[in-house]
Amino acid sequence: MVKRKQYNDFYFINDGRIHTLAEVQERYEKNNGDISFFQGRMRCPECKEAILSFTHKTSRCREYLSKEPSSSHLDNCSYNYDYASKKQIIEYVETISEDQIQDRLESALNMLMNRDSSVDISIKSQTQGDNPLIIKSFNGGNSIKRTIPRKSLSMWLDKEYEDKVFIFYGKVKLKVEPVKQAEQEGRVEPFEEFFKLLIYTKRRDGTWGYKTKVFRGRIEDKIDENKEYDIAILGYLDFSYGRTPEIKMVKYNSLLYR
Ligand SMILES: [Zn+2]
Repeated sequence: MVKRKQYNDFYFINDGRIHTLAEVQERYEKNNGDISFFQGRMRCPECKEAILSFTHKTSRCREYLSKEPSSSHLDNCSYNYDYASKKQIIEYVETISEDQIQDRLESALNMLMNRDSSVDISIKSQTQGDNPLIIKSFNGGNSIKRTIPRKSLSMWLDKEYEDKVFIFYGKVKLKVEPVKQAEQEGRVEPFEEFFKLLIYTKRRDGTWGYKTKVFRGRIEDKIDENKEYDIAILGYLDFSYGRTPEIKMVKYNSLLYR
């Protein structure tokens, strides 16, 4: 039984572009609940086949998109499969090399960031198994397909997502922060230097706001702070530093920006 999937965005058949869930909620609020502009024309952002419908925000629940029961995803769409658990993803990552992780993050970025019609990378043309978000997991002797959940960095990073591994992705600005030894729980040898990568995302008003940071160990990234980067991080949220979570990578350098 496949659990309900979350869609941050969707493919809009009117203009062949990817739009966000927030746009639909905004239109819902501005037009007294009339979203006929979108309704029936929202498709799965990945396979562009399955039809999505919108449920508006209530006092108790955030707005969401869900697949209409009568429609289906294409075979190779990652929304077909249950999400991989943290354990399954970590086990999978252990079986592949650092280069393979980088390749997978690169393909995931291509799929998640360049999806507008101008760059047609429809997965219809891809062969089965090429989807960078689908992994094989082993259950007894059987191989099963599981999907690595994705999370856009422009969405909420809530406590409820703690302890789940995601591919976090988005368009960001970056900054390097040296870490003081005292912050490393006294386990650091004297004079060792560590770095964190600070991540900023664009707010609705167009300004950039601090979102989260990633511990990079001894890697001092060479960042142009004025540049916009595409980033993908395979990791999970860590709330032990307070209300604003940091992202922990599942493996040394399971992060890619460009
Ligand atoms: Zn799909």
